[in-house]
Amino acid sequence: MDKLLITHGTVVTLGENNQVIHDGAVAIENGRIADVGPSQTLEATAGDCQVIDARNKVVLPGFICAHHHLYSTMARGFAPPGEPAFAFGEILERLWWRLDRALSPEDVTSSALVPLIECIRNGTTTILDHHASPSCRDGSLDLLAEAVLESGIRASLCYEVSDRNEPGAGVRENARFLERLRKEPDPRLAGMVGIHASFTVSDRTLEMCREVAEEFNVGYHIHVAEGVEDHQHALENFGVRTVERLVDRGICGVNSLFIHCINIDDHERELIRETGTTVVHNPESNMNNAVGVAPILDMMREGILVGLGTDGMSSDMPAQMRCAYLVHRLEKRDPRVAFVEAPQMLLFNNARIANRFFPVTLGSLEVGAAADLALLDYHPPTPLTSDNFLGHFIFGMVDAVVDTTVAGGKILMRGKEIQVLDEERVAARSRELAAKMWKRF
Ligand SMILES: [Zn+2]
Repeated sequence: MDKLLITHGTVVTLGENNQVIHDGAVAIENGRIADVGPSQTLEATAGDCQVIDARNKVVLPGFICAHHHLYSTMARGFAPPGEPAFAFGEILERLWWRLDRALSPEDVTSSALVPLIECIRNGTTTILDHHASPSCRDGSLDLLAEAVLESGIRASLCYEVSDRNEPGAGVRENARFLERLRKEPDPRLAGMVGIHASFTVSDRTLEMCREVAEEFNVGYHIHVAEGVEDHQHALENFGVRTVERLVDRGICGVNSLFIHCINIDDHERELIRETGTTVVHNPESNMNNAVGVAPILDMMREGILVGLGTDGMSSDMPAQMRCAYLVHRLEKRDPRVAFVEAPQMLLFNNARIANRFFPVTLGSLEVGAAADLALLDYHPPTPLTSDNFLGHFIFGMVDAVVDTTVAGGKILMRGKEIQVLDEERVAARSRELAAKMWKRF
């Protein structure tokens, strides 16, 4: 049955005309939203369709993660050998660059399936992923795409190009995958040109990336100024700071994502704004790596589009939002800030970002938009209206359990039961593969 009616829920539409509809319904047909309104009205016109009763649930557009690393799964519970890393560069060298090199093709698939299930559990229906697996680079984006299609969510995929194993490695993989998408477009998949970071690529490599991005008319997905290493490297080797170097080489623009942007100065912020480049904030990851607090409140005030990602830490977007809310209040020592900005990044800006990459409208419950939804168990203990929705979102819904997840009109989880993958088997296989991978590390 390709018709679905979600009814008797508290429908929060988000989008341009955000409304809270009590006892509201969403009608879905052929993967798109056919109608949104009072349950009574929609039930009268629904006809023959599958029905989900959303009583005591909040119905929201599925969450969007603007920066993820599906490949990071096998780091969970792993203690890298040697002294604990202190500098950010040491964290990369001692953990991540050894972990990604140890991944086999089967590890890539398994590493992806675990967080994809976690996305479904957390109502995250779109992710923008950044992948690395140098020992099995060619074809790795196809492995991810297969896993993504199996999960039923949407993903923008790219390979993070760097010179650290082989100069320019990964450019070909990005081009190959973009060519596949050109030949076989799918509304659940998108592609970008991934670059690890300025400090791991030469100018020649950037030029190769630019040729691919221009050929396929896509933007770049790159870590920028995460640790101090990035601007130190740019200053020592090119006499300019990171953002100046990238902008000067054309690695920027409205379809590009600069991830982190912690160690940037006023002039770099100005360049980001002038070029219309998007910034993605990952507060939990930044706190975990102790790299600092990105000046996102200043950026947003100045008109830079800032989205929210997890950097592979988790697939739980409301938790990430609250982390942003708290850390910026603490950093500014001002309890008046971030109440609007933190949810705005997740609920509105991530939709603006994703809508540049996917051919369907995401992040809004409106007629014609993709039927990507999350149903959260939530009994509001105080009146809930469109005016105080953010307060309920930050202090209540952030801890609400997701009951049902729908993407493209397909039910991926219902009554907290994953419908599309065998969660227990995926985790068991991952444990087996991880134990072997840890030995190769
Ligand atoms: Zn990252």
